[in-house]
Amino acid sequence: MARGRILRDKEDDLLKDLKESTLSYKKLGKQYGVSGQAIHAFYKRHRIKRPKRRKGHKILECRLCQKLIQINKKPHSEFISIQTIVKQTGEPVTKYSHHLRILRDKGLVDEKFGRLRSKRAEKAYQIYFTERLPICRIGWKVGIKNFYSLIRKHRELGWNVPASLYVYGVRKRSRIQSEIQRKKQR
Ligand SMILES: [Zn+2]
Repeated sequence: MARGRILRDKEDDLLKDLKESTLSYKKLGKQYGVSGQAIHAFYKRHRIKRPKRRKGHKILECRLCQKLIQINKKPHSEFISIQTIVKQTGEPVTKYSHHLRILRDKGLVDEKFGRLRSKRAEKAYQIYFTERLPICRIGWKVGIKNFYSLIRKHRELGWNVPASLYVYGVRKRSRIQSEIQRKKQR
């Protein structure tokens, strides 16, 4: 077969590739076993409208990506809700998934970063990380019925939820101890 000729039964495939992909003529040429020029000639002959190539996205130059990386560095940043992230970056919410995916794929932000959707859960976790309160009390404060089961669910899904600052049983234990003390004193 002469290098410049595209097999007839491949033409439909090539038409489709040209119409739907942004692959270069050279790359397509390799794929179809002809030269890039041959592909280009084919494209001209069929007057194909090709999709525009997206401008290259450079993380270092992308304001949104840089801001997301910065927010991700904050402690417990996985527990910052997407609403808060949107507020802090000031970009329309529709833009995020694309940039977040790139950053997650490259390991530049945590896998869970930007996944929390509930503002209430964010609030609950904020209290959970900073105040020594029983979990049920935190839930009650922010209006989550069962904050404990939410924590458990997040843990199961691989979220890094540290132990509660509130130590369960301390009060009970100290009451028992003081009773023992009192008995001793008698
Ligand atoms: Zn970006």
